[in-house]
Amino acid sequence: MIGLRLPDVDRWSDRVVVALGQNPSLFTGPGTNTYLVGTGKRRILLDTGQGSDRYIPVLESALERAGCENIQEIVLTHGHPDHIGGAAAVIERYGAMRVSKQPWEGVDDRYNLEVTPIGDGSIVRTEGATLRAVHTPGHAEDHLCFMLEEEGSVFSGDNVLGIGTTVIPSDGGDLVEYMDSLERLLAQNPTAIYPAHGPVIVDGKAKIREYIAHRYEREGQIVAALSEGPLDVPAIVARVYVGYPESLHAAAGESVFSHLRKLEREGRVTGTDVDANVDARWELV
Ligand SMILES: [Zn+2]
Repeated sequence: MIGLRLPDVDRWSDRVVVALGQNPSLFTGPGTNTYLVGTGKRRILLDTGQGSDRYIPVLESALERAGCENIQEIVLTHGHPDHIGGAAAVIERYGAMRVSKQPWEGVDDRYNLEVTPIGDGSIVRTEGATLRAVHTPGHAEDHLCFMLEEEGSVFSGDNVLGIGTTVIPSDGGDLVEYMDSLERLLAQNPTAIYPAHGPVIVDGKAKIREYIAHRYEREGQIVAALSEGPLDVPAIVARVYVGYPESLHAAAGESVFSHLRKLEREGRVTGTDVDANVDARWELV
């Protein structure tokens, strides 16, 4: 993932200019996309990156590229550090402004920001752009996607990515909710998807269908592995992720675990000592 390079600043539509958050890593790929949205002198900034020192100069050139003068307000897809972490530096540079997100108790207060609560159906407007929030938990419980009503496109945050696949972390993630969120997003009939990581996705609906199919395929492989008898997570990873480099096995284990928790909630598998130990043994019911 880290190998993909994107320009620091790019224009993806009449209303959308992207500025890279300058935080490339194994998990963020080329880094977090932050977006200037609208057509007026003051734009919405959607997500803020991790808080890299190199981000503010990039944001300045993005404003120049967008042809605007200032930032109207900040809107966040969710409270993970690579989305919210840059907000304080943006406020320091451009002055006090509203910061809106769906509240996440115990997480938001790490950032010393005054958060304006928004949620499913909330509208944030600027000249030339109307953002409508769609609550899409699963990757994170506070996660919002934003429809850009004038285009029918969607800012998908970490729910659908231009590169790699979405992580369902054991802390705050939930695969059952995530699958629901993908279906809800598909029902919005999005055109393009502007993801939080990786390039723009031109055919949004096809990508969401691909994501849904991929998860069901994975689930089928896990069930097939368990049909031979009880296994722990590393043993399932070894069977399902044949040929994947060892460095990805930890992440694969998280993914397998999220599937097992989903299957458990659906009454299809059962595990021993599940909360205490990620190496619990699992079997089909
Ligand atoms: Zn995230």
